[in-house]
Amino acid sequence: MIMMKAPLGYTGKILWVDLGSGTIREERPLVEVYRSFLGGYGLGVYFIYRDLEPGLDPLSPGNILGFCPGLLTGTPAPFTGRHMVCAKSPLTGTWGDSNAGGYFGPAIKRAGYDAIFFKGAAESPVYLAIDNESKEINDASDLWGLNVEQVENRLKKSHGHGAQVEAIGKAGEKLSLISGIVTDRGRIAARSGLGAVMGSKNLKALCLKGRTRINMADKALTLNLAKGYNKKVHQRANSITASQVASMAPKISKLYRILKIPAEGDEYMYAFTLHNYGTAFATSIYAEIGDMPIKNFKGTGFKDWPQDVATRFTGLALKKYRKKSYGCYGCPLKCGAILEVPEAGLEETHCPEYETLASFGGMILNPDVVEVFTVNHLLNLEGMDTISAGNVIAFAMECVERGILAKEDFKCKAEPEGFLPRWGDSYHLLPLLQMMIDREGIGDLLADGVQVAARKLGSKAREFAMHANGQELPMHDGRFMKGLALTYLADPTPGRHTAACLDFSSLGPVNKFMNNLNFKNATDPVGKGECNAKFVKFRQAFNAVGLCEYALPQGTYPLLEFIEAIYGWKITISEFLDTGWRIQALRQLFNAREHAIKCETPGRTLGRPPLEQGPLKGDTVKIEQMIEGYFRAIGFDETGIPTPQTLEYLGLDAFIPDLRSCSGVDIRV
Ligand code: SF4
Repeated sequence: MIMMKAPLGYTGKILWVDLGSGTIREERPLVEVYRSFLGGYGLGVYFIYRDLEPGLDPLSPGNILGFCPGLLTGTPAPFTGRHMVCAKSPLTGTWGDSNAGGYFGPAIKRAGYDAIFFKGAAESPVYLAIDNESKEINDASDLWGLNVEQVENRLKKSHGHGAQVEAIGKAGEKLSLISGIVTDRGRIAARSGLGAVMGSKNLKALCLKGRTRINMADKALTLNLAKGYNKKVHQRANSITASQVASMAPKISKLYRILKIPAEGDEYMYAFTLHNYGTAFATSIYAEIGDMPIKNFKGTGFKDWPQDVATRFTGLALKKYRKKSYGCYGCPLKCGAILEVPEAGLEETHCPEYETLASFGGMILNPDVVEVFTVNHLLNLEGMDTISAGNVIAFAMECVERGILAKEDFKCKAEPEGFLPRWGDSYHLLPLLQMMIDREGIGDLLADGVQVAARKLGSKAREFAMHANGQELPMHDGRFMKGLALTYLADPTPGRHTAACLDFSSLGPVNKFMNNLNFKNATDPVGKGECNAKFVKFRQAFNAVGLCEYALPQGTYPLLEFIEAIYGWKITISEFLDTGWRIQALRQLFNAREHAIKCETPGRTLGRPPLEQGPLKGDTVKIEQMIEGYFRAIGFDETGIPTPQTLEYLGLDAFIPDLRSCSGVDIRV
């Protein structure tokens, strides 16, 4: 009898579920595929590019929806619990991916797969249930219409509490283009509108159980590396010195602006603040220095949303609601928290992230932080992206301010006469969001994001629909950190603050993550674009491994050592960078094949015209030069299409014939 050697690290199997025919099959990729694309959206883009028919409607059954854990997800390597959901995005028409934490990524591996892909659409609601060897597409008619908490409770009751569940809420069912996919009641693959892709397939949920173990080349070394690393993070997270400095930070926010001090710290500061205050630790500083967009990107923090208000939205102020800390699988830092908010009638709710606090804070001049808890809870349960939803509310408020929308446009069951959402109106947030989730009245127009709404409302509204290539903008202003403006427009998945932005590499310890990389920044726009290429290559591989963003400011991480100890692969830094480059090139080629390389954003996002006051006064982003430098340095032509030489160098020669049917973009904005 020939004994098959168990693979190291990965499970060696991909699951394909055809919801149209109701069939399920396994594929066993060659080891070269893993080595060339690692995991996460690396594997996602390889399989989706290979099997997706170009040009199709993202909400048609032909779209492919992938759930892809990172290469190291489920292993003892710290910070690697992430998984990525991938498909052609219905929001942007580009490559779409969205990254989430929690415990679902490792559950995919435990269920025995390195990725699960869905094709086709079921005729009526279904969910996928995997319990070790058993794989079933089950009827989900009784789950349709339920929120994700109710779905999780029901599925755990019927499949056992060891099951991990990922589901859509009503927003995804109703094909909102800003809907996401939720796990653990509040960890959400929110961006790119992928909840709508899941809804279009009539797929309500995935429910996974399994006992597959990950084999490691050197288990003792892996555990030793993890133990040493985690010990350092724990020490930093409890540092007394960092605690003393952090407690002063909100009080001296003004000084950051006046003295132009970069809002950064060392490993200790990042560990302490993230662990104790979450991502909201610097809300008031970001509002003050110009990083947080204010009043739909036309306001100024210290004038329109002053410090006494912003301070209520910081992690320090939220601490009084904290019931317990929350961490994703294998995370030594635990930046999340579960809160109890009696004022909002919430016994347990995920702490809102900075992005949510800003998009429902400074973006709309809301002074009431308690309302944000309620909003965050609702959007998590119904699966709607809080960043996009906040942008949409800001857009609606500006429509009201300019007379494009009137009181009668906001008629609903609760207020039959209509209402007028104005800047700072926290009272109407919940009804308006509920209308978007239900697609009731004006909510139907707003549920598909600002670009779609602006197209329907006419050319005047397009000037202040704040998006990059269709994706609503995150709460870090590209006029403040100009590398972000480049990332928002030039990355194949547009509008992401978590994609590669070179400016982040110069923040504190990020540059030490892999000691020999030595990222360099430049001040001139072309040079900045060129330097960005190296960071982009690094970040694609980093993401594909399954690492969390917040591992970066923890400095030195034994990444290549973990890959060797678990997979037995000796990877050099240059191979690691080339792998990231390969992933980026294929994501870009995906967009070129879809004729979806774009450069669309309102002039306001780039400071055209510039703001007349505040820290961003007079700032304009020279985006054309940055994109030009970036495209050239990463091996794309001037319209953004990967060159044949780049594809050949990266071993993607098989895709060179596809270039005949590709198109790029004129990068003038
Ligand atoms: S740092 Fe936060 S987001 Fe990242 S893995 Fe840990 S808990 Fe999850």
